[in-house]
Amino acid sequence: MNEIAAALVWIAGLLAWWVIRYPYQRRARGLKVIRHHKDLEERLLLLFSIVTLAIMPVTHWATSLFRFANYPFQPSMGLLGAVVLAAFLWLFRQSHSDLGGNWSVTLEIRERHSLVTAGVYRYIRHPMYASFWLWALAQALLIPNFIVGPASLVSVGFLYMRRSGREEQMMMDEFGEEYRAYAEKTARLIPGIF
Ligand code: SAH
Repeated sequence: MNEIAAALVWIAGLLAWWVIRYPYQRRARGLKVIRHHKDLEERLLLLFSIVTLAIMPVTHWATSLFRFANYPFQPSMGLLGAVVLAAFLWLFRQSHSDLGGNWSVTLEIRERHSLVTAGVYRYIRHPMYASFWLWALAQALLIPNFIVGPASLVSVGFLYMRRSGREEQMMMDEFGEEYRAYAEKTARLIPGIF
């Protein structure tokens, strides 16, 4: 694999991300939200993620802004990045399909929200955020630049740290004992470990 192929893999991943997400985004528009925590912090976290995952890579390829931080491309890193990106897409698609109409881009409870404990949610509570970590790792492996490559590890790290606790509290407030029992049986991100 060369640097251009790695960039094309990255772009294909970005397009696949949109193809997977779009139907859920459309469907979510028609499902009434009964409680939400969409505050300024949530909006900034989402904006920061978009900047690092899409705007920075595209700016890097279209301009010379980040060129000073380039390092030589390693084909083995590129190949590993493609494998990690494929794992991201699988987990991302699976978690959307398991969540179905309960999915939201932010912290929201919808009318007729049900607690999902099956599919990938049987093993971990945050498979979609686990997929984001894989996506960020794939970016670090596929883009040989000290700034643009690891940028999403920072934004996904912030998103995960700031959001997962609040989300679990929201789910606890909504589902009480049912969520507590579910949380006791599952790990957050890595089955059986964390
Ligand atoms: N943290 C989860 C979901 C991310 S989508 C993951 O990483 O896979 C965020 C929305 O999913 C939240 O607003 C919440 O309403 C909903 N949600 C999270 N866990 C859920 C579950 N087990 N069942 C149903 N909805 C859930």
